[in-house]
Amino acid sequence: MASGNLPKDAHGLQLNFCKTLACDNFGLSDAHRYVVQHANPKRPAMVCRECGAFPPLLNNQDVLDELQRLRQFHNEELPACRNSQCQNKALSVHTHKHLYHAFGYSGDRQRYRCKSCQSTFVDKWSGANHKRHFQENLLGLLFMGYSVREICRKLTINPKTFYDHIEHIASRCRRKLAMMDARWMNHAEHYELASHYVALQPKSNNGTYWTATGDAKSGYILCQHVNYSGQEEPTGDCDHSAFQSPARFVTREHRAEANRSTAAHVTTLRDKIDQQYQTILARGNVEDPMGNLTYFNYPSKGAVIRPPYTSYAHFLHVLDLCKNECHLTLYLPQDPMLRSSALSVCLPRIQNKTIDLLYVDEFGDWDNDQPIDKIDIVHMGWWRDRWAMTQTNQAAKGICYLAGHQNKPKYWLRRASINKTIFYQQRFQLLFDGFINEPRRKLRPGGILPVLDIFRAWHNLCYQDKLGITAAQNLGLTNHPMTLQELLS
Ligand SMILES: [Zn+2]
Ligand SMILES: [Zn+2]
Repeated sequence: MASGNLPKDAHGLQLNFCKTLACDNFGLSDAHRYVVQHANPKRPAMVCRECGAFPPLLNNQDVLDELQRLRQFHNEELPACRNSQCQNKALSVHTHKHLYHAFGYSGDRQRYRCKSCQSTFVDKWSGANHKRHFQENLLGLLFMGYSVREICRKLTINPKTFYDHIEHIASRCRRKLAMMDARWMNHAEHYELASHYVALQPKSNNGTYWTATGDAKSGYILCQHVNYSGQEEPTGDCDHSAFQSPARFVTREHRAEANRSTAAHVTTLRDKIDQQYQTILARGNVEDPMGNLTYFNYPSKGAVIRPPYTSYAHFLHVLDLCKNECHLTLYLPQDPMLRSSALSVCLPRIQNKTIDLLYVDEFGDWDNDQPIDKIDIVHMGWWRDRWAMTQTNQAAKGICYLAGHQNKPKYWLRRASINKTIFYQQRFQLLFDGFINEPRRKLRPGGILPVLDIFRAWHNLCYQDKLGITAAQNLGLTNHPMTLQELLS
């Protein structure tokens, strides 16, 4: 096989390199280090000449396009420069204060001017909310599990009005969150984050996955993204090619690849981890969870993004929020898509020794405070990942240290956890079960997206733990729980 070129870098971003940490080619993108072919889409496009690993290739520009989409969505309706030619475009006033001047008022709403292009814009949601009382009722009913139809009947509105209100509420929530997120990120001395993803609508098989990253201790959720774009059309090839653009869309011709579910009953942590490796290896591309779908129904409008593109963009977005000089600890569930994307995006942090990256898994009712007597080291999966496991009675915990310079199993077994992020996602799916699974919404994930932002605001700012403390309070960002009324003001 002749050696070809790697996909072109995009504005200095090159994510294609060997992802085996112990390999001499780790993090290096010189073409001669790899065998690259794209004549046969069924064979690996790139093989490392040192270690034989074959990380899937990515189109770097498409990762940046996806990041731009996520940013825009995350900042939807937040005050930010709107000039598409400007470098400040979509960077919000709340997170990038230094880029803007306050520039008078429009009615009771704050106006800003961009320092780079001088264009002005208004903070739409800074004024009083005259519909607050009505929206409080609407939200109350939604959180109580009433269907859209029932809510519309109780409030005598039509569905269009319902969704308009949801969009408005989501915008106010994003604004509150942006201020709070910035307060946390700018004042923290280090970050300890936990990521996790699940199918957004578990009963729909529509290929949309919901990734969330939050503070591992308090459970404050920093950001969440879904690989679905309501505004775009899925163009490009049915087979993924990192050498063509666009590369990031799942096309409408895509068919489910798996012929059976690999799920089985497991009785130990080791079985559970082993089972997960088998699930991963059953995928055509180990870094794409869509390979495990036995059915696939394309959403009725919009575009599904290939999950790895959203995952890479998600971590680019997270890293952008973290201050470079502060140490980052990142906990992940056992999954090579998250591993590869976090590892690749954190390459400068791995080189500067400002990161710890780990898989964490638990079995049974594990309690981080119980004593750890014995730690077993087990090499598992095709990758021979090095897991450290411990067990007491019926509960067990395992960690797999992926990158960093503090490989101390006992320390991490006591500390690492992704439970808060898992709890957040499970709670949403429980609370909004009716909403998510309404028959007419199964192939319309778009309607759920603003509700995710509302839920994130409620979860971070209003929801109180057993001690009556919110996640934002636990992080020292506020000194009291926010009421729904305050959230909507
Ligand atoms: Zn290698
Ligand atoms: Zn500008």
